[in-house]
Amino acid sequence: MLPPQTAEEIYSAAAAAGARPDPLLTISEWADQYRSLSTRASAEPGPWRTERTPYLKEIMDCLSPSSPVERVVLMKGSQLGGPLALDTPVPTAEGWTTMSEIRCGETVFDENGQPCQVVGVSPVFWDRDCYELTFSDGSRIVCDAEHRWVVWEGLGHERQKLRCLATVEMVPRYKVRGHWNRYAVDVTGPLSLPRVDLPVDPYLLGYWLGNGTSLANDLSLHEDDYEIAAHLSTCGYSVDYQLPPWRNGRSARIVVDGRRGRGRDEGGHSDTVAVADRTTGFRGTLREAGLKGNKHIPLQYLRASFSQRLALLQGLMDSDGHIERHGWRCQYSTSNPNLRDRVYELLMTLGLKATVCCHPGGVQRIQGRTCQVQDHWLIRFTAYDDLPIFRLSRKLRRQLRRPGRRATRSERRRIVRIERVPSVPVRCIAVDSQSHLYLVGESMIPTHNTEVGNNFVGYVIHQAPGPMMAVQPTVEMAKRNSKQRIDPLIEESAALRQLVRAPRSRDSGNTVLSKEFPGGVLVMTGANSAVGLRSMAARYLFLDEVDGYPGDVDGEGDPINLALARARTFARRKIFIVSTPKIAGLSRIETAYLESDQRHYWVPCPACGQFQVLKFAQLTWPKGRPEEAVYVCEHCQARLANHQKHVMLPRGEWRPSAAGDGKTAGFLLSSLYSPVGWFSWAEAAGMFERAQKDQALLQVFVNTVLGETWTQVGEAPDWQRLYERREDYRIGTVPAGGLFMTAGCDVQQTRLEVELIAWGRDKQSWSVDYRVLEGDTSRPEVWERLSELLDETFVSESGVALPIVKLAIDSGYATQQVYHWARKQHSPRVMVIKGVERGAAPVGLPTAVDVSVAGKRMRRGVRVWPVATGLIKEELYRWLRLEKPTEESGEPFPPGYCHLPRYPEEFFKQLTAEQLVTKVVKGYRRTEWQKLRERNESLDCRCYGRAAAAAYGLDRFTEKHWRALEEQLGVAAKRRQDVPGPPAAVLAARPAPVRRVIRSPFMER
Ligand SMILES: [Zn+2]
Repeated sequence: MLPPQTAEEIYSAAAAAGARPDPLLTISEWADQYRSLSTRASAEPGPWRTERTPYLKEIMDCLSPSSPVERVVLMKGSQLGGPLALDTPVPTAEGWTTMSEIRCGETVFDENGQPCQVVGVSPVFWDRDCYELTFSDGSRIVCDAEHRWVVWEGLGHERQKLRCLATVEMVPRYKVRGHWNRYAVDVTGPLSLPRVDLPVDPYLLGYWLGNGTSLANDLSLHEDDYEIAAHLSTCGYSVDYQLPPWRNGRSARIVVDGRRGRGRDEGGHSDTVAVADRTTGFRGTLREAGLKGNKHIPLQYLRASFSQRLALLQGLMDSDGHIERHGWRCQYSTSNPNLRDRVYELLMTLGLKATVCCHPGGVQRIQGRTCQVQDHWLIRFTAYDDLPIFRLSRKLRRQLRRPGRRATRSERRRIVRIERVPSVPVRCIAVDSQSHLYLVGESMIPTHNTEVGNNFVGYVIHQAPGPMMAVQPTVEMAKRNSKQRIDPLIEESAALRQLVRAPRSRDSGNTVLSKEFPGGVLVMTGANSAVGLRSMAARYLFLDEVDGYPGDVDGEGDPINLALARARTFARRKIFIVSTPKIAGLSRIETAYLESDQRHYWVPCPACGQFQVLKFAQLTWPKGRPEEAVYVCEHCQARLANHQKHVMLPRGEWRPSAAGDGKTAGFLLSSLYSPVGWFSWAEAAGMFERAQKDQALLQVFVNTVLGETWTQVGEAPDWQRLYERREDYRIGTVPAGGLFMTAGCDVQQTRLEVELIAWGRDKQSWSVDYRVLEGDTSRPEVWERLSELLDETFVSESGVALPIVKLAIDSGYATQQVYHWARKQHSPRVMVIKGVERGAAPVGLPTAVDVSVAGKRMRRGVRVWPVATGLIKEELYRWLRLEKPTEESGEPFPPGYCHLPRYPEEFFKQLTAEQLVTKVVKGYRRTEWQKLRERNESLDCRCYGRAAAAAYGLDRFTEKHWRALEEQLGVAAKRRQDVPGPPAAVLAARPAPVRRVIRSPFMER
């Protein structure tokens, strides 16, 4: 143990530390001996055991001083995020469950009320920091400090901003000047559920709960409300509306299913509305539904369809509900606590914000009389007239009009209190809903994988002291990480406790972001702070979650480079870079991994002993039953169960797959390697199956389970939108803006399809015509018609006839006929193409396919151009999704905009017939274009026409080229004369002037 030193001495000792003999222990040995996981920070507390996650051994040991590796890169899958208390109730499609009971595959709801499925459930965490949030409606929830909320930020008069914040981030800021509440959450949207069969009509049930007798089929009401009888009969009941002679005041009654001649005849006014006989009768169904003598709302009513739930509320409100004269507040009162809770929940399921308040009972004077009043509750809420919560017309009339009302008052709940509460066990779930993606991706939940970095920190403090810098994405996260991970790391290990003095003692040198220890110092900072990153020279760097770092910090460049610069002076530096990857091409961890030796973890099959890398594609399960997933050995096809990982993982080994730079060890670790008891293969299978519906979820799956980066995909644009915004120019003419023409030709057995496209500045395009040349393509006739088409010209806005400068024809089908035709044309205007899956540019270098007698390729024969159709389709779909500028805005069309004339529907359907999907093939992600519809010729033609334009030089054109083209067409002069020009449609309708065929030098290329 070194004696305490001044900061200066610590630095010089640290710089000299490289010269010291290596400590004897490796990091994994050290962790096994000294490391203890706290219940606060780990789901598996207790002594660290490297054998639990054997694949982490080599990663840690590369960080040990005895290893020559300088840089360790860990690209990993992650776990779930955002824990909630175990007793937190969670509404499900069937009723309620709790966080402790929830299972994968259960249907819950997202904040828009849409059903979504639970795709992952974490283990239970103990001793975490917990908070209780109280909302303005009185509801409360206990959650973990790290639970992330989607909240509206801003006070009443400010513009509200939507933010995603962890509980602890809100704690210091949720109150403004002591009484304003800064944050609000949206009231959940109405639950969207299917219609169900209910024993009693929901409106009748609601009305009966308020005004019915518990034992009989009687409903009491005021005689002014006689219309209730009509409402009930609309529900299909036979009802008797009676005014009993003994009545008190002006009360009337309705007997449901009161058949004539049955029951007591009061002798009063009897008005039977309908006689729809029900087999069991109202009383019978009440008994069967368990309602007789027990007034309550059965759960099935709360999980019925929206209109059924609304009918229930209407019944309740028509009987015991009240609405203020000016409609501001609606109120339901009940003395039954059970009914209170269910009515409150009913309002929630309809997307209404309600508050509950209790009126204590006792002896009260009402209208001059002394009465004993029970405790009762008032449930208050506001509902606008777009949601009729009454059927009774006198109440319905009072409902407020929606327009002009602010949403905050009735549709958001403010967070009014956040209090630290004693810790309770918590867990988190991940759901397959877009809005809850943060629960998975942004995880802050510690797993063994993230403990590698903490072992590194502990080891440095104890065994190899020196200056160390640990960087989190933000300073705020660094503070949290320090309190929640580093403090427990030190406190739970006797060896470290002695070296790092408690922050409480004076002059301990320890703050939240800095820990001094003999021979070194640990400084923690955020990648968003250039000052922090420049604060010290560090021999050890721990860069955590680098894919969450900002691109540029305070204008000083990339935070990783800034941090790396701090370690440059140390000969024996160690740098640990770790992250769950995000978007491909933007992912720092992927870049770092690709520079490394790219190791994979190979494990032996328990059946045949052959080594392999665990790949997702080897998982197999009966469709719809992911819980039965097994792993198929790629060598012997043995079906391996999840628990066999026990045998496989300890015998595994890391094998590099690239040379790398010799100093960087890279590790790729998917969640398929999670030890038994954590994320299972069945969970991975389930997550994948559910992800099939949703690209966003598939990204989560690829990032978190496979630990790979995600590629953005191209979704098909909506054909109907394109169809609706067709333009009015005449088919066969070139509208203003079109400066040269290409054609794309698709070859089928029975026809040729050709699209003629005019191109202009900014790569805007106009479809000029779409021709289908019918005819057997194995016979010459149809080809002759194509030759004729090639020589056609198309009249432009200025009356100039435009030729086709290039025609691209696909050689994928009827290859020899295509070659034959192309040969006969003898024209540089004809371009034979072949679609290729991948390519860096839309059009590659051509290959000569004609071979002379001597066996040499003929230079002047047919050449075939490879065309990267995938690239072109991505670009096209991006263009097709561009918004058409509105007429009022006067904005020009955006670059790349595709103008399409009044073609039939089929053209648009074919144009949008494919989409780019991501599939996991053999354990690796692959994107490919997939047909959504059988026919896609117009899409193909468009791609070939685009390839022709590329070959003609569209992508390289400069201002000079465009101006030359415009001069040829006489457009430039015209522009100067009358700006703006008349619309294309008018021009197209003009009689065609004398045709001039133009030839410009560069049109001949
Ligand atoms: Zn095998």
